[in-house]
Amino acid sequence: MKVKTRFAPSPTGSLHVGSLRTALYSYLYAKRHEGIFMLRIEDTDQKRYVEGSVESLQNSLKFFGLDWDEGPYFQSHRSTIYTKYVEELLANGHAYKCYCTPERLEKMRNDQAEKKQAPKYDRLCLNNQDQEGTFVIRQLIPDENVLFHDEIRGEMSFHGKDIDDQVLMKSDGLPTYHLANVVDDHEMEVTHVIRGEEWLPSTPKHLWLYKAFGWTAPSFAHLPLLLNPDKTKLSKRQGDVAAEDYIKKGYLKEAMINFIAFLGWNPGGEKEIYTIDELIAEFSFEKVQKAGAVFGLEKLDWLNGLYIRKKTPAELLELMTLDWTPDLKYVACVQTRMKTLVDGPVMLEMFKSDELAYNLQLFNHEKMKVDKATAILAIENSIPALENLEDWSSEDSIKEALTAVIAKLGVKNGQVLWPLRVALSNEEFSPGVFELMVVLGKEKSLKRLKSALNFLQS
Ligand code: GLU
Repeated sequence: MKVKTRFAPSPTGSLHVGSLRTALYSYLYAKRHEGIFMLRIEDTDQKRYVEGSVESLQNSLKFFGLDWDEGPYFQSHRSTIYTKYVEELLANGHAYKCYCTPERLEKMRNDQAEKKQAPKYDRLCLNNQDQEGTFVIRQLIPDENVLFHDEIRGEMSFHGKDIDDQVLMKSDGLPTYHLANVVDDHEMEVTHVIRGEEWLPSTPKHLWLYKAFGWTAPSFAHLPLLLNPDKTKLSKRQGDVAAEDYIKKGYLKEAMINFIAFLGWNPGGEKEIYTIDELIAEFSFEKVQKAGAVFGLEKLDWLNGLYIRKKTPAELLELMTLDWTPDLKYVACVQTRMKTLVDGPVMLEMFKSDELAYNLQLFNHEKMKVDKATAILAIENSIPALENLEDWSSEDSIKEALTAVIAKLGVKNGQVLWPLRVALSNEEFSPGVFELMVVLGKEKSLKRLKSALNFLQS
């Protein structure tokens, strides 16, 4: 049978990083086995629907290169199918109508809580099926054990006595997640259900539904939880959880995919940098861990830096949002220091114009013993030395010329180099003087030094 996986998000917001991992693993597994990756929108819960999220989920998947081969299917378009199947369950005694009012259910739950019992429907309606009024349809959970093999967690066992009679169809005639999910996975011939660990308690209910219908259940793989660095469940409170937030912050999609792939999966060995094709070639459930995976941003930052440096300056420029077009040598200069794509425009700012709006504060550096007078002295003496310098092609020759200036003035390196660097960049942090001079070239460098001198002397 051809492998088919699916990603089945509910349209309740933008793509969560945990869902991105579920989608990625489902994609990788399908591609690894030359199978099909399908997209299904589980939109039967109208109350939780968030406007625009269907589009946003699809755009995010496409952005990350997780193109689906089939779908999207929408559960909201398939309600007649679910009605047909729930009637079959009613007829076979695997489901029953429940007419209990919300008030009665609340009272029942409160009584149970008082007696320290687990909340569970007491089956009041089971033997009274022909009542008047609105009803929901509940699954009759059998009083038996269910065993299954999870691809990641191994042998699992649940007993019906611990499980509530799940609502399969609400009073509005729409199916719940449990019914729609099972019917669709069967009808759509899904072979592997890959989803987060939070769905594990639902799996026995699903397996009893497969059994009630006489269907073969798919294989299940429940992925480990994503954790904050303090080992609590990954939450908004401790940082961003929407995949698109990371893109806005300037992370590259290749870095994100590489990072997300390693949240709970590790093929072993030293290699940590994987293209999507390499991930496809390596991916297997055996290498997915059971324990929760920590969402560690240092690792993402590190990977992002590597991927930024792998780009050519032209590719990198393409990825940045800028209102001017810098020379590629300037892009190359900042590329080695960029942590994210949003750093680029900020770091490139100093190359935008030779008319820098200097700030006296930046020239002053108490620790290095630089004040206005030393800064003037340093720049005044450097200009003629640099004007006489023929070979501007390497940092070495510039360094030699400036070392001579420092020796002549009998001052510390920083007393010359700090004011020069500020004159060239007008930034607190920037590449060093020699590198900046090579990148800017002789003409621009001298122009900047002269205008800084003018500024300091006025
Ligand atoms: N609609 C569910 C979700 O939002 C799908 C769970 C599953 O994959 O079975 O995660």
